[in-house]
Amino acid sequence: MSENNNSEIRVDVKSAVELITEIFKAKSCSDYEAKTIAERLCGSNLKGHDSHGIARVPRYVEWMEKGWVFPNVKPELIIDAGAMGCLDAKQGFGQVAGEYAVDDGIARAKKFGVSVVGLRNSGHLGRIGDWAERAADAGLISFHFVNVRGSLLVAPFGGSDRRGSTSPLAIGVPNQGEEHIVLDMATSTVAEGKVMVAQKGGKKLPDGALIDSFGKLTTNPEAMYGKIGDDEVPDPDKGSGAITAFGLHKGSGINFMMEVLGGALTGNGVCGALTDKERRKFANGMLSIYISVEKMVDLEYFTKEIKSYADFVRASKPSLNNDKVLIPGDKEIATNFDRLNNGMPVAPLVWENIKTTAEKLGLKNLNRFEEAIK
Ligand code: NAD
Repeated sequence: MSENNNSEIRVDVKSAVELITEIFKAKSCSDYEAKTIAERLCGSNLKGHDSHGIARVPRYVEWMEKGWVFPNVKPELIIDAGAMGCLDAKQGFGQVAGEYAVDDGIARAKKFGVSVVGLRNSGHLGRIGDWAERAADAGLISFHFVNVRGSLLVAPFGGSDRRGSTSPLAIGVPNQGEEHIVLDMATSTVAEGKVMVAQKGGKKLPDGALIDSFGKLTTNPEAMYGKIGDDEVPDPDKGSGAITAFGLHKGSGINFMMEVLGGALTGNGVCGALTDKERRKFANGMLSIYISVEKMVDLEYFTKEIKSYADFVRASKPSLNNDKVLIPGDKEIATNFDRLNNGMPVAPLVWENIKTTAEKLGLKNLNRFEEAIK
């Protein structure tokens, strides 16, 4: 671990995976599950989405203790109807349930050319781009519509209180011989984890990301969590403000549709319309659509068209204060390259909170993780 000039520290990926794997093994996850959780959380940091990375560890442990997520659960296939399938993750870890669901969708699309697969009652699915990348690795285009049941965080366009979830959308496109093209985004201005990272002293929020209970736009994470101490796990239930939906009225409409597709259609249940007393347990619902490129169009033609269009877009003259035009996924690819080589920048408090979690679980010799200097 080393300090950089923003007071962030750079953590070696291998050491972080090791420490987090030990934490989840200490919470009774199987070796595979613990390592998968650790690798996917670190993978998110590597791609630049610190919001869905290792900062989540204390919260996942807390959720296990509250009985919101359980270790070692095998998802159950509850609908098996040709090109359509649906799995019930039964509140198991999303990092593993996601693999089952995507692999099911891949197998169906390979057979039928297209497939639609629902996943309900899943623990946190993390960075949804992971699932689009898994499908693209198998040569498939995929769409993932996700809702977050039990997580009311987002104000609709024109509103000032919480009526929606951060419900992410990902679209992945395989790109022969090149990196896959992946659009992966929350349908709120920022993902909740970005507010959490800002609260821990990490990257500041963009203007207009939050709205307080008086209906005033703000970037202060207190709107989400209230005033909290350094060692407390940020709890969105303690704040009275909301995250704004992205893209004005149009983005707010997409945010709405994610509840319909990821929530109602998968059987996961929507995030809201419930009284506090009836509030449901946190769960991601994900509706995924998979399309075989080669069953639709000549693969070589498709690849050439994409390359030509990507080059055309990237060649646009940058606007003021912008040095480069990017297409979906470019930023993650560049960030991944940097962080694999130079370590993951992490707010010191995030790293301290992970070590405190490990200590509470009785893990010993934590100093060895301090030696992982990049
Ligand atoms: P974001 O605002 O960084 O947007 C990411 C998308 O925008 C990516 O596709 C990226 O390639 C593209 N992008 C970024 N900068 C760009 C630029 N300058 N030009 C062109 N394109 C650019 O991310 P976000 O919306 O905060 O989402 C973060 C992560 O949170 C995602 O991985 C998402 O899946 C995840 N998430 C998960 C849940 C869940 O419940 N599991 C909920 C919400 C969000």
